[in-house]
Amino acid sequence: MGHQKTIFVQPAEVTTTLPLTSNVQSTTKVISKQLTLSKTNHTTKRSATNGSIKKTFTNGLTTNHHIRLSHRNSEVHITPPTTPPTTRYSDTKIPLIVECQVRARIPTATGDMFLHLYKNNRDNKEHLAVVFGEDIRSTSLDTSRPGEVEMDRILRGAYTGKLKPGQTSSSDGFKGTTMISSDKLPPPLVRIHSECFTGEIVQSVRCDCGEQLKEAMKLIQSEGRGVVIYLRQEGRGIGLADKLRAYNLQDLGHDTVSANVFLHHPPDLRTYDIATQILADLRLSNIRLLTNNPDKIEQVENGGIKVVERVPMVPSAWKVNHDSNHIINELDQYLKVKVERMRHLLNVPETLLN
Ligand SMILES: [Zn+2]
Repeated sequence: MGHQKTIFVQPAEVTTTLPLTSNVQSTTKVISKQLTLSKTNHTTKRSATNGSIKKTFTNGLTTNHHIRLSHRNSEVHITPPTTPPTTRYSDTKIPLIVECQVRARIPTATGDMFLHLYKNNRDNKEHLAVVFGEDIRSTSLDTSRPGEVEMDRILRGAYTGKLKPGQTSSSDGFKGTTMISSDKLPPPLVRIHSECFTGEIVQSVRCDCGEQLKEAMKLIQSEGRGVVIYLRQEGRGIGLADKLRAYNLQDLGHDTVSANVFLHHPPDLRTYDIATQILADLRLSNIRLLTNNPDKIEQVENGGIKVVERVPMVPSAWKVNHDSNHIINELDQYLKVKVERMRHLLNVPETLLN
């Protein structure tokens, strides 16, 4: 079993400082800013000597060919960048491997869940899986590691049953359920959720992430079995700093898509290949996925996981009794853009259509 030890050679972190020059035609004002990219980026051209590049983009009147969306008639038009757009992780050719490093029981007011922390060979982030139900087990966690003793297995959470004070064995002695393939059980409810500091922690209503996470946890917990995969790809993958810049652009009248494009990013940089590998590691090849996002379903299925059912996530504000006197707010605008420009599968309330 020596292979487990050598799998996780972390990628050398590519830290590139980009002196980025924006030349906005309308004002001819030149804004220079320092951006630090700390992700593996295989296509950005860097100078061989000092690793820095200069990017120039203008707010001209052409279409942006690297966007995958069909709706491009925004009020904002950007010249295609002189360098390739930020790489999506799934564009890379390195075979992706995930490994559960540690698992622990998290007691809550409504029951226990098991938090699984994953490492992978694609990025240095701690992606998580919140698992409800004791029959869903991580293959990589359960695999014995060379030289480990029972206490090592206990510390990293590779035990069965529930730990008790003074316990010295990782097995509770009951070997029945843990070896049953999860595929023999009904497909569990799964949510693949991308981190959103603003929506989840400071309760921003610019987006519906906080509500979606809470709702998904509630639904899965009520079924007693399922998984929330929590991916560390803030701001649809552009990171918190650029997400906040995008918010300033939104206050200037951009929508969530055109703001990303203005900042030189695709509208959605998120990928789901790490989530797909985590599902495979949890031996879940058939799932019921809580999502409105067809791109997510496509990527998960391309990774070999069958989505036997899509369970919609309808925002509470858009459920049947939408108030006709309702004033269109920032969340409504955001949700409409998701439907109209990002193919999200939701019915826009009639009161919001004009
Ligand atoms: Zn959000």
